[in-house]
Amino acid sequence: MNPPCDLCGLDTGLKPFPLPTPAGEKLFCCEGCRGIYQMLHQIEEAPPPPAPESPPRSQP
Ligand SMILES: [Zn+2]
Repeated sequence: MNPPCDLCGLDTGLKPFPLPTPAGEKLFCCEGCRGIYQMLHQIEEAPPPPAPESPPRSQP
């Protein structure tokens, strides 16, 4: 038995569409569901690298 899609609840089948999130990996039945979930939760698939050290702001 396959896990249900995290968006619509349908069977994710043999090739689920995974999406790593801060709350753990989510699985979706199709790219559409994954895209919608990603959009709803503002999840970036590849988080940007940490910004380089920025100079401290001393001015108000
Ligand atoms: Zn789905």
